[in-house]
Amino acid sequence: RSELDRALDLITEIPDFPEPGVIFRDLTPMFADGTAFVHVVDALNEAISDDVDRLVAVEARGFVLAAALGYARRIGVALVRKPGKLPNVADRIDYQLEYGTATLELPVGSVKPGERVAVVDDVLATGGTVAASVELIRRAGADVTGIAVVLELAALGGRSRLDALPVHALRTI
Ligand code: 5GP
Repeated sequence: RSELDRALDLITEIPDFPEPGVIFRDLTPMFADGTAFVHVVDALNEAISDDVDRLVAVEARGFVLAAALGYARRIGVALVRKPGKLPNVADRIDYQLEYGTATLELPVGSVKPGERVAVVDDVLATGGTVAASVELIRRAGADVTGIAVVLELAALGGRSRLDALPVHALRTI
């Protein structure tokens, strides 16, 4: 197996979290392993096109990945946050979860018109979180050129909610 496969094999399945019947994929052992983290960040970096000039990440695990990628590429990271955290909200979006709704907020000045943006997150599940981030980026006048995630849960159909955008997952299950 490749180094990347060995890194992704550190992702564990936690049954019945956060509620009965759900299998949660826990990436924290992968983040905690220095070698695995390097291979995962390098693979995400290769998946993102060279001409991207901004990364957008959703808290909290997306921040860890995007921070490493932004440093490697010398490009800035826009931090999309859950409500009530930002003092300077440029825009906010409400979106549907399987049960109920959620809100995400974009800080003022973090995405500029005309920029080419890649969205980074740990897990693509239903796609609601990434789709909401894409909408915030587009409303700011920027172009989303692609989405990079570590793990895609294909059965939840996230990719189909992201219209024609290229989605690169290091592992799809
Ligand atoms: P979605 O909006 O695609 O349904 O859910 C994706 C968001 O929820 C991501 O930001 C991700 O961090 C989190 N998420 C959903 N399912 C899982 C999971 O099994 N493991 C982890 N680590 N995060 C998940």
